[in-house]
Parts: sequence; structure tokens; C-alpha cells
Amino acid sequence: MAYDYDLFVIGAGSGGVRASRLAAMTGAKVLVAEEYRAGGTCVVRGCIPKKYMVYASEFGRTFEHMKGYGWKVEGASYDHNMFMDKMHREIDRLSGIYARNLRNAGAELVDDRAEIVDAHTVRLVKAGRTVTADKILVATGGSPAMPKDVEGIELAVTSNEMFHLDKIPEHIVIVGGGYIAVEFAGIMSGLGAKVCMVIRKETVLRGFDEDVRTHVHEELKRKGVKVISSASPVRIEKEGEKFRVHLSNGESAAGDKVLFAVGRDPHTKGLGLDKAGVKLDEHGAVVVDENSRTSVPSIFAIGDVTNRLNLTPVAIREGQAFAQTQFMNRPTSFDHADVPHAVFAQPPVGVVGLSEAEARKKYGVVDIYKTRFRPMKDMLTGDEERVLMKIVVRAEDERVVGVHIVGPDAPEIIQAVAIAVKLGASKADFDRTCALHPSIAEELVTMREKFVPPELKPV
Ligand code: NDP
Repeated sequence: MAYDYDLFVIGAGSGGVRASRLAAMTGAKVLVAEEYRAGGTCVVRGCIPKKYMVYASEFGRTFEHMKGYGWKVEGASYDHNMFMDKMHREIDRLSGIYARNLRNAGAELVDDRAEIVDAHTVRLVKAGRTVTADKILVATGGSPAMPKDVEGIELAVTSNEMFHLDKIPEHIVIVGGGYIAVEFAGIMSGLGAKVCMVIRKETVLRGFDEDVRTHVHEELKRKGVKVISSASPVRIEKEGEKFRVHLSNGESAAGDKVLFAVGRDPHTKGLGLDKAGVKLDEHGAVVVDENSRTSVPSIFAIGDVTNRLNLTPVAIREGQAFAQTQFMNRPTSFDHADVPHAVFAQPPVGVVGLSEAEARKKYGVVDIYKTRFRPMKDMLTGDEERVLMKIVVRAEDERVVGVHIVGPDAPEIIQAVAIAVKLGASKADFDRTCALHPSIAEELVTMREKFVPPELKPV
């Protein structure tokens, strides 16, 4: 049967665009539908604007640090409107590039909502027409989750709105202790807001190595962020110009903004996946095999909508593997192991591989090397911030199975370390690599002593 298109892609985010471009460049007829803006979450309301906001928020501390080096900075001030304007112009530029690159590769891009009708048919809602395609790729990403059991939840905002604040709040309450909550706590605090975080657990960043969690938690508090642990929001109410969040432990916190950053839901609602018989998991994510194929052979899914590893570069690589397999005759599946990742906290976190707990569970005996130190730069600034470095080694063959850094440039450092970990480097390989002095990263190759918990040290 002849279809209108070889490939119909729903969503022009990082993953969808990579898959569409590669497929179109083979000569395939590709149609991409995007209901919001090309570039998706990463470009429009995620990684890119977030990182610009992190940069903006770091300058305050830089001014403080400069004093330690003899610089005088007088009359420095932050113009929020000017920054927002420049940031959004940059987002517009990047979104335009995404759309242009798609078209330059030969794909068609339509500004429309797409809903699946059956295994080979998609309806374009605005245009009011249906088109058929040999293959359909769902790359719709995710959207902020909001709890349904919190009274007054409509008074809170999500990360989406944080990129359009007309001013920096005096006080902000941030609910959640994951990536987004921790990143915005640093951003808001750096830009002058008083921040109160509300987390369900004892420490932030569940899923990360325990030492990383403790370190980030302590650094947040040291920078003046109030953290209310082991509490959940129950009710939000308006109190004059502010909002008060009532908590399960009887406490409450007030702010002129309340941000909920409590996870993201895969964007599958209303897509018609049920009509085509595509299987979803209990979180509403599309279930796929290692080739990103769903339970319907002609329908594929990549990126956050599959809830595998919700990171932009992973969506890109899944999109690339899909196009290589389906259109370039190069069967490829993306290896989700040892993907480096970062939390742009202040100081930032960079991680590759397993946490100590995960490694113990998987391999039994592991050796730990870790160090905490004050970076050289801060000897003159007076800043008490500490760096954490931790290496997790599988004892049976000394292979490095996890590296964790919290400190300046941790994401930059971990990207390079990830190459060594992916190559299967051993602790001995780290040790025989010569240090680069003076640097923070040199500590990674100079840790000689295995960590022995104090209770196991001989007296
Ligand atoms: P996360 O899954 O990282 O964290 C969610 C947080 O919300 C957890 O602390 C969780 O607590 C808490 N939580 C969940 N439900 C509730 C509730 N009902 N009431 C109170 N607290 C609740 O989600 P994020 O929203 O921060 O980020 C979503 C995803 O986006 C990340 O997992 C990541 O994949 C991606 N991302 C990546 C970034 C990066 O690469 N730098 C940056 C931003 C996002 P608990 O621990 O108790 O479950």
C-alpha cells in the first residue's frame, strides 16, 4: 500500500528532530508535526534557558569572590527584564535553527497537533485532515507533573512558568527535591530570593549517591536555602500578596511564588495511542523494545515519552539509532549504560556510572575512594564551599564503575571521565594517568587510599 509519507514524527524536540533529519536525508518523505515550538523542552523550557539562568545567578557570588582578589565592584545590579529579553531572543534563534535544519534536510514541518488514528494514520487537528505513513515516531517528551491531592494547587507554578517570571520573587517555596527543584533553588537564591525547599525525604536528590545527596543538601543550606525535610504539601492558600503552603508535619511556608517540581509525566494523553493499541506502562509512558519499537510494529517512540533515561542527549541518540536502523540500513540500538549526567546545582554535580549503593547491590564488594576539599581558588575568596570526589571501584577486577563529583565544573570534568569509564578503565588506569596541576580534576588521579568507614578503622 502506498502511504502519504514514509515517516510521520510527532514532536520537534531534540529526539524527534534528530530522527527526522537523518531519515529525510536518506530521501525518505518525512512529515513532522509540532504543536508548540520547534526545539522542544530542552531548547524552549528546559536545559538551555535553565543554564542561562544558572549563569545569570552565579555572577552575584563571582562579585563577592572578586573582592578576595583585589577587585572592587561598585554599583553592580541585576536587570531581570534585560536578561529575560536576551535569553528569550536566544531561545527564538535556536528554535528557528531547529525548524530550519529540519526543512534543509528535506523534512516538512507543520505547526499542528497530531493524534494517532490507527497504526498508519495520523490526524492533524488544526488542519482537520488525516495523513498516512509507513512508520510513525512518537517523540512528544513530557510535561510537569502536578499532584491532584493538594488543595489550592492551581496557585502554584511549574518549571514552565519559571522561564517567564516578570520579577525575581522575594520569597519562593519550592516543593520537590529532584533535579529541577535543586537547580531552581540555586538559581533563585543566586538572584536574591529567599528560598524554602520542601522535600519528602531527609535529603535532596533521591537516586543519587548518598555522599552526593548529603553534600548538595549541606551546600544548599550553607548558601541560605531553608530545607524542610520529611514533609509534603497538603494545602496552598492565598495570604495577602503571598501564598502559604501547609505541610503534612504541621509546619507551613510562605512565598510570593510556589514552584512545584515533583517530576514529569510522559506526554501521552490524548495522543490516540490507545486507539492504535500502543501499550503504555503504569506511569503512562510508551513501552518500547531496544529498537524503540512499541507494541504496534509500525509505531516507534523515543525520548522522555518512553521514560527510559530522561535526558536530551539520550533522546537524540535514541532518535539517531531509530533512523539508522529504519532508514539507513545500519541496525543500531543505543546503550543506556554509563550515560554521564549533571545537576546544575551550585556547586554542580557530575555523575557517570553507579552509585556506591547500586554498585554494592550489583557487584557485591566494591572499593571506595573519596575526598572532600576546599578548592584552591577559595583560599583567597574565603568561600567555605567544598568539592566532593568519589570513585566507586568493582573489587573483583578494579574496574571503575562510578565517578561522582560535586564542585566547580563538575559537568565539564565528568564528560571527559565518562570516556574512560565507557572504555572500562580500571583504578590502576586512573592512577597511572599523570595529574594536571594545579586543577580540581587532578584529585581524580591522585586518590590512593581506599576509604575505610571510621567504625572499621583500627584503633
Ligand atoms: P525528579 O524525579 O528529579 O524529582 C522529583 C522530586 O519531587 C523528588 O524529590 C520527589 O520526591 C518529589 N515528589 C514527587 N511527587 C511528590 C509529591 N506528590 N509531593 C511532594 N514531592 C513530590 O523530577 P524533576 O521534576 O526535578 O525533573 C524531572 C526529570 O527531568 C528528571 O528526573 C530528569 O530526568 C530531567 N531533568 C534533567 C535535568 C538535567 O539533566 N540537569 C534538569 C532537569 C530535569 P521523592 O524523592 O520522595 O520521590
